[in-house]
Amino acid sequence: MEVRLAKKLGFCFGVEHAIDMAEKTLAERGGPIMSLGEIIHNPQVVEALSLKGLKVANDPSDVDGTVLIRSHGEGPEVLSELRSRGARIVDATCVLVKRAQKIVAGLANEGYRVIVIGQASHPEVRGVCGYAHDVICVDTPEELDRLPAGGKVGIVCQTTHSLEHFGRMVGLIVARGYSEIKVVNTLCSAVRDRQAAAVELAQKVDVMFVLGGKQSANTRELARLCAEQGVDIHHLEKWSDFQPEMASGKKVAGITAGASTPKWIIEEFTEKLRAFE
Ligand code: SF4
Repeated sequence: MEVRLAKKLGFCFGVEHAIDMAEKTLAERGGPIMSLGEIIHNPQVVEALSLKGLKVANDPSDVDGTVLIRSHGEGPEVLSELRSRGARIVDATCVLVKRAQKIVAGLANEGYRVIVIGQASHPEVRGVCGYAHDVICVDTPEELDRLPAGGKVGIVCQTTHSLEHFGRMVGLIVARGYSEIKVVNTLCSAVRDRQAAAVELAQKVDVMFVLGGKQSANTRELARLCAEQGVDIHHLEKWSDFQPEMASGKKVAGITAGASTPKWIIEEFTEKLRAFE
């Protein structure tokens, strides 16, 4: 079948940097190291790195020796616990996540009550919320009742959210009538480029395949945005998840992939889908 790729898709610079740092550290150390949490939300990459010696610690108390902080970053309390345990920290926090962390700390210093628009359970958001006291995390209009009644509020967003979601939530917060509001756009440009390219492609094809880990927030957001274009979409991790009925009767398929989806998964999927009749 005819297969078209989104103009921007797959690994972002933050994920590439984290994987490079993991590989370099493994080569330097010549033995196993740990990442605090899976290095990226892609089980195939996690497995491939695990074979090279990158083990996963799920809690700071499990860390022994060298620990890699993944691109999502960590909060200051976790970092100080690791230091107090004598861990050697290799920090692969993405520069855009570091920027969001610094902005949260800066807003709090300026006297703003910080609001993070994001999923409270997402590791990046958990870490970012740790850079100021009493940060409030909200992600849906229903959660806005938890916001303070008045005062100065400072707003940032989970890097992987869409501009559309950020704008909608900021609009609802502004409508609550705070005396002062400072909004800082902490969205990731790499994610935004992938979202724009996916939406553009979804409008021109009969079916969209969104490739990436089921836990990947930015991949799920790509799937949601493509579905909003009215096209059939399938969020799959790899070619073996493909079922013939997903493409039967369709002439043109589009492919996009989240920021944590490696090139080899995209290439294998593209090649096999092109051969599908
Ligand atoms: S998605 Fe954006 S913020 Fe997240 S790691 Fe990649 S470049 Fe950094």
